[in-house]
Amino acid sequence: MRSYDLIIIGSGPGGHAAALAAGRAGMTTALVESGPLGGTCLNWGCIPTKLFLGATEPIAGIRAQERLRLASGSMNVDLSALQKRKNAIVTASRKAIEQSLATVNVDLIQGRARLASPSSIIVNNGTETEYGFARLILATGSSPSFFPGMEPDHAIILDSTGLLDLTETPASLAIIGAGAIGLEMGQFWERMGTKITLIEGMDRVAPTEDPEISKVLATALKRSKWTVSTGKKVAGITAENGRAVVSLEDGTVYEADKALVAVGRKPNSEGLSLEAAHIATQGRGWIETDELLQAGENIYAIGDVNGRTLLAHAASDQGEYVIRHIQGETKEPYAPGPIPGCIYGSTEAIRTGFTAEELTNQGKEVRVSTSMLSANPICQSHGASAGLIKVVWSEGRVRGVSAAGHNVSHLITLCEVAVREGWTREKAQTIIFAHPTLDEALKQALLADQVSV
Ligand SMILES: Cc1cc2nc3c(=O)[nH]c(=O)nc-3n(C[C@H](O)[C@H](O)[C@H](O)COP(=O)(O)OP(=O)(O)OC[C@H]3O[C@@H](n4cnc5c(N)ncnc54)[C@H](O)[C@@H]3O)c2cc1C
Repeated sequence: MRSYDLIIIGSGPGGHAAALAAGRAGMTTALVESGPLGGTCLNWGCIPTKLFLGATEPIAGIRAQERLRLASGSMNVDLSALQKRKNAIVTASRKAIEQSLATVNVDLIQGRARLASPSSIIVNNGTETEYGFARLILATGSSPSFFPGMEPDHAIILDSTGLLDLTETPASLAIIGAGAIGLEMGQFWERMGTKITLIEGMDRVAPTEDPEISKVLATALKRSKWTVSTGKKVAGITAENGRAVVSLEDGTVYEADKALVAVGRKPNSEGLSLEAAHIATQGRGWIETDELLQAGENIYAIGDVNGRTLLAHAASDQGEYVIRHIQGETKEPYAPGPIPGCIYGSTEAIRTGFTAEELTNQGKEVRVSTSMLSANPICQSHGASAGLIKVVWSEGRVRGVSAAGHNVSHLITLCEVAVREGWTREKAQTIIFAHPTLDEALKQALLADQVSV
């Protein structure tokens, strides 16, 4: 039986980052992947969605100038050309991943892996081969999940993966779930000319964000003529006569050419034979990890599959931490601090650190300072002046920043630094922000009067 210092199952952002770090550290390493290299992020997640939004961004730009009565016109996006470009970029990126692994001498093993014992796995790729490991990282990611009665038929009722592969623009699309995936995909199809109906069971869009952020997003969606229904639960979705029929519990029925079900994710932990190494799961099957990201003796679980944070950069950070831990470079528990998150599109939303509500619930003294984007020259020039930046303070230090508006994702790393370093108002005052920039709106928010909540 061939044995490695480290075997990693899954080549998404978590597994890839861990494999590169392990290879560079000189560990004999194998990466096992059952699907295409790059995982959800490259193939069906971050990358294709941003490519679609980037390609259609000028449409949103023209509409914004049209609202100011400064310009008119239209732009046609060739969907089949866009799909080809997506496939070309994804294929090239998979190749780049393969090359990066070869450069650091990581063996790539194609096939589906499962645990055989606390120190070996079996890979099935037609034949079954057992490999031994000194250490194992489970980085198997997550997949779309559905409530009963909402399962996709992959023709009319789709998950995010299916929607990314459409070759014809639907005239109408019903989206169930107003989280990041539903909001980003809806904005792309709306720019393509699709009529969007958005249905969210919670009382607002982007329900995990600050309520003021949700409000900015909801206003933008209504301005773009979305039908938005919040606080209403879907009873079921059926495909009837080639159309999606979405029935709400209150009796309302929406019909559309296609439906996207974007109500959550479930861990890819089934079929891993976790019991062979006494690995526990919780909830829908999220792999339980301790403060060192260990799921068992010499076995780690990173990224989506441990359910901590379902974001690509969180997965990579965990992967790199685990290698440092294995190498003895850190003995500290995994404590990543604030993890930045973005919702992309014409009106974007960002958040890093705490919301005011979260800190208040911790019993902390909380203040907020806010700036409106309407006064920002860059937002004005883009005809996109709706939105705000909200800074959350406790004990005189920045503990969180949330924002919604045009291009606010460009602010995320600076916000992250402010939170991570716990900036004071005086610190913000010492920094020169170039003029005119969107960043100046962040400075205004940092220096604005702080109000207790
Ligand atoms: C539409 C969409 C948009 C997104 N946009 C963003 C974004 O903008 N920014 C962001 O940070 N995040 C985004 N995400 C989330 C991001 O894609 C995930 O958080 C990230 O991919 C998780 O990385 P991972 O390494 O944990 O797992 P994954 O990327 O899911 O990779 C897991 C890999 O493991 C493989 N695997 C599973 N089981 C086995 C097995 N038994 N044997 C062998 N291989 C196996 C899978 O084939 C897969 O390749 C988005 C997700 C979606 C769906």
